[in-house]
Amino acid sequence: MSKREMLYSEIVDVYEKLNSTTKRLEKETILSDFLKKLKEKGDSKWIYLLKGRVTPDYDEKILGISSKLAIKAIATSFGISEDEIMKRYRKVGDIGALAEEFANSKKQQSLFSKKLGAEKVFLNLRKVMDVGGKGSVRGKIDLVSELLGNASGKEAKYIIRTLIGQLRVGVADGTLRDAITDAFFPGEKGEMSKKVELAYDMANDFAVVFDSAIKGKKALGKINIVVGRPMNVMLPVKVTDIKEAFRICGTPCAIEHKYDGFRVLINKKGKDISLFTRRLDNVTKQFPDVVKIIRENVKGNEFILDSEVVGYEPKTKKQKPFEAISQRIKRKYDIEKLEKEIPVEVNAFDVLYYDGKNLMNEPFRERRKILEKIIKTIKLKIRVSEQIVTEDEKEAEEFYEKAIKLGEEGIMIKNLEAPYRQGRRVGFMVKLKPVVNDMDLVITGAEYGSGKRGGLLTSYIVACKSGDSYQEVGKVSSGLKELEQEGGTTYEEMTKLLKPLIENEKGKVVRVKPKIVVAVTYQNIQKSPSYDSGFALRFPRITAYRPDKALKDIADLSEFTKEWNRMLKDESHTG
Ligand code: ATP
Repeated sequence: MSKREMLYSEIVDVYEKLNSTTKRLEKETILSDFLKKLKEKGDSKWIYLLKGRVTPDYDEKILGISSKLAIKAIATSFGISEDEIMKRYRKVGDIGALAEEFANSKKQQSLFSKKLGAEKVFLNLRKVMDVGGKGSVRGKIDLVSELLGNASGKEAKYIIRTLIGQLRVGVADGTLRDAITDAFFPGEKGEMSKKVELAYDMANDFAVVFDSAIKGKKALGKINIVVGRPMNVMLPVKVTDIKEAFRICGTPCAIEHKYDGFRVLINKKGKDISLFTRRLDNVTKQFPDVVKIIRENVKGNEFILDSEVVGYEPKTKKQKPFEAISQRIKRKYDIEKLEKEIPVEVNAFDVLYYDGKNLMNEPFRERRKILEKIIKTIKLKIRVSEQIVTEDEKEAEEFYEKAIKLGEEGIMIKNLEAPYRQGRRVGFMVKLKPVVNDMDLVITGAEYGSGKRGGLLTSYIVACKSGDSYQEVGKVSSGLKELEQEGGTTYEEMTKLLKPLIENEKGKVVRVKPKIVVAVTYQNIQKSPSYDSGFALRFPRITAYRPDKALKDIADLSEFTKEWNRMLKDESHTG
């Protein structure tokens, strides 16, 4: 049987089935059946389509054309005026459904349209992502129209949803990984699901994992990290005291300062040094100073270091909060000037790869030894993170207090025997900070201010995630700065960020595409019918715009439920 003969409608079938259930196991079976089919008559890269992508997860490029462009493409494809589509859109509120409606009514007239192949859809979507520069809008519209012209109603719906970056079929990475295990190692799920997970952590590419899984265990085990490519980082869970930290990490354990900067994975391969954030963005160009520091002070030809890069005030040498350094992440020009205004220090705390050897399976204590050997500490430029190893609670408490006095955010407690694993896993490292309730949330709506703030979006509706949708948890109007001189993100900047994302406007209120992540502090949460999550934040305040965080990093609805339950429990203890 020849490859690449799968129809797009077969993938659409999978989307529809996935949409018909919220049960994880059922989703896993649907995916697993599809993967077996993909093995027989498909191309592994179409696996990206299941997540609404056309590139591997490590690739920072994502689809996400504006709603405006999607509407233009629908207008061109079906020969309907944009005004008419806008009118319908205001009623229906979902561009995917709109495309479906127009494609269905067109179908009766053209019985001779060609059946869409999966490869054709994939390639056109990919080109839409890649075309840029002059005339690119026209080019994108043509590519989309070519697809819509031959699409059935359902196909049109999913093509548009994929294009605007809102596929919404609820495929979590974990489910897709388990589906691969289920499809190709059905008898050995226990052992193999871990191996598939490991392989995915190394590759960050489902097509690579799928191709290797087809070949078998050995091929899967050979997947290795690639230096110079962004990857996911290990994340901590939160604890409330030292006792809990000791219980989770075991003793003795390592305790380090928790620096308040931003996470950078530093990659070196021969002469090339590249820097990636935890959301896989390449920030090498913004930080030539870090590249220089690494080149001059870290031994080795090829390595991957994990670090926190912290900005400081050049005169007082005092650390600056994250908001300051976020200026440097965002800025693409005047880099030299900014380098002087906000110099940075690299705090290296882990090493994942060193001169030909993947160290991720080595215990942390060994990785740390290597780190200490290869880094030359230079004050205010680079150091290995401040660390103690202890099993004594009092000593740990003192270290914690000292860290806070120094202005650090808190401490990280790490299991000395643990490997390095991406994602949040209990037991490898935990964080402890003074109680400030904060969460990363995404802005889904905003409201124009009045008076001197007229024309500016000055209050923001924020949402957490729930599966692959977003649920609103409150409205926040304080925290941003009035003027640039005050430092930090201003209302004007936020307005500029949000305006291109506006999907619809009603009076003073706009709805925006979920993209801008902000850190929000609040006093506590309460139950509320005003928001679809059922919760509301009390006294929320934006503390920072987080361009370094991805949508998948924001708070999950389950965290609200957990916190709510904890509050109830606390109340019943005290009351
Ligand atoms: P927060 O929300 O608590 O301000 P955060 O959102 O950056 O922090 P958390 O998951 O809470 O992320 O904390 C983990 C982060 O702490 C890491 O991603 C890393 O950027 C930072 N960090 C600072 N110092 C260390 C350290 N010594 N070891 C590991 N991570 C550290």
